[in-house]
Amino acid sequence: MKNKIRVKDLNFEVMITAAELDKAVSEVAQKINQEYANVEEPIFLGVLNGSFMFMSDLMKKIDFESELSFVKVASYEGTESVGEVKTLIGLNDSIKGRHIIIVEDIVDSGNSIEHLTQMLAELEPASVKICTLFFKPNAYQKQIPIDYVALEIGNEFIVGYGLDYDQLGRNLKDIYVVCNE
Ligand code: 5GP
Ligand code: MG
Repeated sequence: MKNKIRVKDLNFEVMITAAELDKAVSEVAQKINQEYANVEEPIFLGVLNGSFMFMSDLMKKIDFESELSFVKVASYEGTESVGEVKTLIGLNDSIKGRHIIIVEDIVDSGNSIEHLTQMLAELEPASVKICTLFFKPNAYQKQIPIDYVALEIGNEFIVGYGLDYDQLGRNLKDIYVVCNE
């Protein structure tokens, strides 16, 4: 693991190691395993692209029968959240009457998750819960409860483990944060 890296025009340093991520994912998976032990075949619904690595590691730690699907939404340009959320890949109608666990990489302002939960509600699921790898409580502007949070962070911009800086850095095993030199 390199402590400092450059992605595009910015410098980053390690903030959370792969081992720490694995521990946090295990803890959140354990909670979900307990709470969904008696729920009939829930669907894990990943939000692309950022959640793909978290979803992969999370699913390996889930011990009940479940399905997996993905949607794609975008609200970020560069390092700043832009208000408008666009749904790029939609959902089919197999959501009706099903228990949904949304899997996000980061909940920041909450715009994406609000848009997604509103869109999902129209498809009449039996229940919807939200699981996120990272939560920025100081940036969150919505009332929707975030049910499962692996790690809380400040308002800093991070990359790695699926999260990108202008599409780069998703392959990094550790989480990096912007730094000065
Ligand atoms: P929100 O709609 O909650 O403001 O933003 C959520 C989305 O913005 C996340 O799913 C993620 O894709 C992106 N995002 C928010 N904060 C960060 C960050 O620190 N780093 C990266 N790479 N993406 C972020
Ligand atoms: Mg996202």
